[in-house]
Amino acid sequence: MGQDIIFDLIEKEKQRQIKGIELIASENFVSEEVMKAAGSVLTNKYAEGYPGRRYYGGCEVVDEIEQIAIDRAKELFGAEFVNVQPHSGAQANAAVFLACLNPGDKVMGLDLAHGGHLTHGSSVNFSGITYSPVFYRVNKEDGRINYEEMAETARKEKPKMIIVGASAYSRDYDYKKFREAADEIGAILMADISHPSGLIAKGILNDPMSYCDIVTTTTHKTLRGTRGGMIMLGQDFENPFGQKTPKGELKMMSQILDSAVFPGTQGGPLEHIISAKAVTFKEALSDEYLTYIVQVLKNAQALSKALIERGFEIISGGTDNHLMLIDLHNKNITGKAAEKALGKADITCNKNMIPYDDKSPFITSGIRFGTAAVTTRGLKEEDMIKIADFVNEVVADPENEAVLAKIKTEVNSLMNSRPLFQW
Ligand SMILES: *Cc1c(COP(=O)(O)O)cnc(C)c1O
Repeated sequence: MGQDIIFDLIEKEKQRQIKGIELIASENFVSEEVMKAAGSVLTNKYAEGYPGRRYYGGCEVVDEIEQIAIDRAKELFGAEFVNVQPHSGAQANAAVFLACLNPGDKVMGLDLAHGGHLTHGSSVNFSGITYSPVFYRVNKEDGRINYEEMAETARKEKPKMIIVGASAYSRDYDYKKFREAADEIGAILMADISHPSGLIAKGILNDPMSYCDIVTTTTHKTLRGTRGGMIMLGQDFENPFGQKTPKGELKMMSQILDSAVFPGTQGGPLEHIISAKAVTFKEALSDEYLTYIVQVLKNAQALSKALIERGFEIISGGTDNHLMLIDLHNKNITGKAAEKALGKADITCNKNMIPYDDKSPFITSGIRFGTAAVTTRGLKEEDMIKIADFVNEVVADPENEAVLAKIKTEVNSLMNSRPLFQW
């Protein structure tokens, strides 16, 4: 019997990843060590419960592993409490909703069409089906969050929880304004830092930890780890309004959140993935990672500048983080067509709604680029100019197979010069 076709396909996918330019903002490449931990014998272990209080025997080793993951995450984000068990970002958010809200309760997030995430109240997601969502938006003129409207909507709608965070927003957040809006109505403030968590951990972006009651994140985007999620509570802090979170309250909240993850929304934790998270956090605590994440930002700013110089319109005019949203109206191409043409040239990205989009989510007027993955490949500012040229050529002539084939060759040769994988 020959090898299972699945392994042939994994090899094929590996080659695809090696050859192409990866611009999907939510993707990255993990290290060999992270890969090794994720593919380890820990996948065999059942460990329902938490370190020191499990429902299964034989958990001595995974207890140590999970505790190390928790301690490293605390150090990385300056958190007082961390739950590393959520299988994904969506699972982390589901647990927070379960912990903080009753079915039907109002929750306010950034509109999906304005950069928000499905789990922040979309009508096709549990968050919008089980709970009552209201939304804040970005300004049409400058693409930045309309803080006045956000505060006004909060005042009028009185949501029980406000969510700050997005999947396609290239600017930093004024967490203090969200805190003020939440305090005025006694709402819980949650930050979902899934995308910029790596930049936040290294102090490049504002820190939500001292303003928000609960912080969730994925571990596989800028953080460059295995796919997964986690939930954090900030340190006992004296917030700018003089309110100190009492120790007892923190303990109570952490117990409620733990219960909301298991048994509330999940069964057994993925200890192989938790071990890979622990490896990820150690890497992210290093100076090498700081150098990396600084370069991610430099590359994003270089790419956005180079695109603007080639006549592209970037929502909000640039970026403070690793991603940018491009309005393709003036290029006479839809997001769907651009994604497809770029794909043929081995440049991977995703079509994306832009704020106030006149097209459906299946067509869209925009595409989203991020630099986390290409920076892991070792690309620098001068390479961003090459990428902008590739994108410009493809978008100008998306049906021309000869042009797409020519760019594809150039893309493959650029990436061949930046080997990545040992695994
Ligand atoms: C990616 C993302 C998530 C969901 O993460 P999954 O691991 O895909 O479930 C949640 N919130 C935001 C803001 C995200 O960008």
